[in-house]
Amino acid sequence: MSTLAVDIGGTKIAAAVCDANDSIIQRWRVPTPMNADAINENIAKIYHEAVASGHTDIQAIGVSAAGNVGADRKTMTFAANIPSWLNYDLSEHIGALIGHAVPVVIENDANCAGWGEYVHGAGKGSRNMVALTVGTGLGGAIVINGELYRGSFGMAAELGHLPMVPDGDTCGCGLRGCAERYTSGSALEHFAKSAVRRRPQDAKRLMELCGGDITKLEGPMVSQAAQEGDVLGLYAFNKIGEWLGRTMAATAAVLDPDIFVIGGGVVAVGDILLEPARYNYARFLEGSAYRGHAKIVAATAGQDAGLIGAANLALR
Ligand SMILES: [Zn+2]
Repeated sequence: MSTLAVDIGGTKIAAAVCDANDSIIQRWRVPTPMNADAINENIAKIYHEAVASGHTDIQAIGVSAAGNVGADRKTMTFAANIPSWLNYDLSEHIGALIGHAVPVVIENDANCAGWGEYVHGAGKGSRNMVALTVGTGLGGAIVINGELYRGSFGMAAELGHLPMVPDGDTCGCGLRGCAERYTSGSALEHFAKSAVRRRPQDAKRLMELCGGDITKLEGPMVSQAAQEGDVLGLYAFNKIGEWLGRTMAATAAVLDPDIFVIGGGVVAVGDILLEPARYNYARFLEGSAYRGHAKIVAATAGQDAGLIGAANLALR
């Protein structure tokens, strides 16, 4: 018994045949084409290659995709990067190309990564988990009583769009003041750049790392500076950590989870991000002194969390 997991990313399609324990047996990686038909054809091709190479026991295809997935777990209702994914039955389009040999289950990418952490990573053994992926934006996944919570329209766990600041910065979603404007990889760059402009006398290291051109400053440079003890790098992490803490406190007011699992590239700095997040979580949590506090930990399932989650969810 195996599954084919597919992760449609912004630049690449990663795929893997996984065994009954969601362990990866064989991998594929191809660039993501810009149009929907070519994406479907690539996935069908990978499926046929997998079968031809001996994986004749594939029971389902689990697809992780960035965008809004309908409650039917088949339809892309909207995706910012692929305009034709508008109420688009992605499951049916892929299914048609493989003769409907196996079911094709679509899930939101943050849900897949969060579920991967729940079944095989830092969230394992918890009952109520919230996963936050700090990437370009801020992705969320919610597990309640051991089940992924999708909401009534498939739109649950959009925690990056919690309205944190009334009339705040304009978000890519069109609203203002969303959490991901203040806690994400993009926000990290923003806070670091604004600090360089305000305190050029302290910006020596960050300016070195970006080659003297502040517009070229990127998240990994800020991470490196912070890990070296650079004051502005640490300032930028304190800011996104504070907002991460505030976002988790707002989430806890609704869900009261036992654990928050923080994933994404920036969490590689560990406590540089997690300490200000924990401090501000406790600070903004309702009844903070008189209640249990959720653990706040870094993700452990790594880059394959999305594939592992997609593989596991495909058969649930
Ligand atoms: Zn938003």
